Order: sequence, then structure tokens, then C-alpha cells
Amino acid sequence: MTKYLKKCKNCGKYSLKNAQSKCPYCGGSQINAIPPKFSLIDKYQKYRIEYFKKEFDEKFNKI
Ligand SMILES: [Zn+2]
Repeated sequence: MTKYLKKCKNCGKYSLKNAQSKCPYCGGSQINAIPPKFSLIDKYQKYRIEYFKKEFDEKFNKI
């Protein structure tokens, strides 16, 4: 849902993505409200990778 949320570059108001990518308030261009690098999916993926890496290290360093 958040990927449809856009922020106006001009007035800073939040609005839903529309076909013209234009702000409904002032007509300015819309930008992504939330940059992809801050997405929750990436955040949890990072923790998951760290968890598996730790588990992997523990398993193979014991041998
Ligand atoms: Zn605007």
C-alpha cells in the first residue's frame, strides 16, 4: 500500500499515486514518500541474513 503513497515535491503534501504523477493540490510532480531503502521488508531481510550467518558460523566453527 505504501508504494502508492507519493509526496509532492512542490508543496510537500501526501497524496496517492495518480496516472499523471501530479499533485492534486498544486499540480507539482510527485515523488516517492518512502524511499525503498527504508522499507520494512529490507529491514527484516537484513536481520534474517545476519541470523543465518551467525548460525552458519557457529555450526562450522565448532568442527
Ligand atoms: Zn503539491
